[in-house]
Amino acid sequence: MVIKVIQTRYKGYHFRSRLEARWAVFFDVAKIRWEYEPEGYVVDGTPYLPDFYLPDLDCYFEVKGRPEYDLNFFRRFADEMGCRVVIAEGPTPDPDEWSCLDTIGLQVLRPRHAEASDDYTDDVAWGYKDMFLRCDSCGRISLMNEVYSTMKDNCSCNDKGSRLMPLDDALKAARSARFEHGASGR
Ligand SMILES: [Zn+2]
Repeated sequence: MVIKVIQTRYKGYHFRSRLEARWAVFFDVAKIRWEYEPEGYVVDGTPYLPDFYLPDLDCYFEVKGRPEYDLNFFRRFADEMGCRVVIAEGPTPDPDEWSCLDTIGLQVLRPRHAEASDDYTDDVAWGYKDMFLRCDSCGRISLMNEVYSTMKDNCSCNDKGSRLMPLDDALKAARSARFEHGASGR
């Protein structure tokens, strides 16, 4: 039996999964520029085609529907490229069900620098994962732990009273998007 993967079309791109297309919708609504499968690489002899590159944040963005993947592979890729690799695991987070107390979110792998220690303990700060947050003063988007959204003056713009806000509208748009080619909304 041959099982054919039905691709998801959005904005002229053929995504390999609806989940990938949902993140593209998220980026669009959040006004984060994205490139889909821009270039392939070979990491330790294994060909690898990153899902997205986000030029505004200088990071790669990898969509994983399931938790089975080799984290060390992506760590090596982050080291090799010298930029962050973000892994989005599972469905796009539901802002109505998600609070900063949850560990739901993005796994941000930061490149290891030569002078740093060998461990990767900063991957998940305080046991919580990261999210895209927007400064309500300068509009800059950062990848940060959502617990920071409860604190003021945390953006690099240093604007007094600025807050980093979660992008609930973009998450909701991503979750409710309907696509061509057999979209069932799952
Ligand atoms: Zn700011």
